[in-house]
Amino acid sequence: MSIEPAAPRRHRVVIVGSGFGGLTAAKHLRKADADITLIARTTHHLFQPLLYQVATGVLSEGEIAPATRLILEDQENVRVVLGEVDAVDLANRTVTSKLMNSETVYPYDSLIVAAGAQQSYFGNDHFATFAPGMKTIDDALELRGRIIGAFEAAEAIDDPAERKRRLTFVVVGAGPTGVELAGQIAELADRTLAGAFRTIDPNNARVILLDAAPAVLPPMGENLGLKAQRRLEEMGVEVQLNAMVTDVDYQGITVKEKDGTERRIECACKVWSAGVQANPLGKLIAEQSDGTTTDRAGRVIVEPDLTVKGHPYVFVIGDLMSVPEVPGMAQGAIQGAVYATKRIKESLRGEDDPANRKPFKYLNKGSMATVSRFSAVAQVGKFEFGGFIAWLAWLVLHLYYLVGQKNRLTTVMAWTLSFLGKGRGQMTITERWIYARQAMQQLESYEAAAKERFEEAETGHPNRATPTGSIVDGTSARLSAP
Ligand SMILES: Cc1cc2nc3c(=O)[nH]c(=O)nc-3n(C[C@H](O)[C@H](O)[C@H](O)COP(=O)(O)OP(=O)(O)OC[C@H]3O[C@@H](n4cnc5c(N)ncnc54)[C@H](O)[C@@H]3O)c2cc1C
Repeated sequence: MSIEPAAPRRHRVVIVGSGFGGLTAAKHLRKADADITLIARTTHHLFQPLLYQVATGVLSEGEIAPATRLILEDQENVRVVLGEVDAVDLANRTVTSKLMNSETVYPYDSLIVAAGAQQSYFGNDHFATFAPGMKTIDDALELRGRIIGAFEAAEAIDDPAERKRRLTFVVVGAGPTGVELAGQIAELADRTLAGAFRTIDPNNARVILLDAAPAVLPPMGENLGLKAQRRLEEMGVEVQLNAMVTDVDYQGITVKEKDGTERRIECACKVWSAGVQANPLGKLIAEQSDGTTTDRAGRVIVEPDLTVKGHPYVFVIGDLMSVPEVPGMAQGAIQGAVYATKRIKESLRGEDDPANRKPFKYLNKGSMATVSRFSAVAQVGKFEFGGFIAWLAWLVLHLYYLVGQKNRLTTVMAWTLSFLGKGRGQMTITERWIYARQAMQQLESYEAAAKERFEEAETGHPNRATPTGSIVDGTSARLSAP
């Protein structure tokens, strides 16, 4: 373990996370007389709203995930560090981060935690083996492999029932991500892949968007939800509502209807976009505060100034914070970061009075979701609109928020190729993208079991766990894909 120098001359700000919240915070401290350390477990800043386009071959991962270090290259008061933060000590004001076998402790004067959220399977974590979520670049590349891999696997089989299963795609969760992904799988099948196979007809692919709720895009209201549903149905997507997933396995999924009856959908490719859960760092921080708690999703119920009780310079922002009327969206994270950094800059000028801070106020700039090329739905204040105008607004806004001129340029080129033509530039898939996550999980369980056996040999106490599959021959890892 190494310890950072104990007493730097300047105020030390530690930021956890390089997403919308963390990156915005670092940028807004550009002129601050402070030493900033930004710690994140990935080397990139991820533009999550376009992950579904990486998963469906429209964009490359580089276009939506530029290196954080290069984005902040010219900002001399920031040091970017790769590592997984696994401990925060509020009493001693330190953050501990791990990379491979080394641990580093970073002291702070102000702390901004923007560690985001992860996929939630509502207590059924084993669903993840067969129905990955879409939160990271790894997820998107694995899904691309599974989606395109399913068409390939269908072409290679003669049995009609199995071919049908391989050509059935189920997206669980009819929020913006589910709607966008289902629409893109349908377009991939009907436009890009049409004519590329000799045995199967990709147009026969069945794309199902399924949700336990009674409507598509519930937060956007009935009118826009229906608009999106109609457009999806025109594209051939089957929208199944009031349908709750009760089981997911290699062969398919089990669905419970509102009346309690259960049915099966045999499908090879399943995607989970049904729920989110806050990063565990939220609970860790709340537990050390003077009474701050977390909500059901694990988000920190922060004070009106986005801090935790008893720690006026520990800010929790973005998807990790729970603030009434603030959705888990990019704007919530960006505005939270701007608010927190303003307080830090005021404190550096001796102008901050934590007891009398103006509370954080969220400005709702609206929300939107694309359904297909040239069609989106949008809500800005009381205005609701759909179709081409909404799609144009979506396009301009996403380009505006993408980081880097080069990325904007290559994204425009990629969109021109796939929206005006039928091609997609990122159709590469590899076996490792599909199987690596499961293989790594199995390796972890194998290592854990080996450790227990070693401890048993040392202590003489009985061993409790054995690995469920062997990484050595890889067979069980392969069973579940694509
Ligand atoms: C598929 C998808 C589509 C979306 N579409 C939209 C949209 O269209 N519009 C919209 O406004 N919002 C959208 N969102 C939501 C939006 O992306 C989030 O609200 C936003 O990213 C939250 O920002 P954040 O900084 O709080 O967290 P994130 O952006 O999630 O960043 C979290 C950061 O913390 C790091 N981290 C996590 N744990 C640790 C740890 N222990 N140690 C070190 N680093 C850690 C991560 O590596 C990451 O850098 C979408 C989200 C997803 C997943």
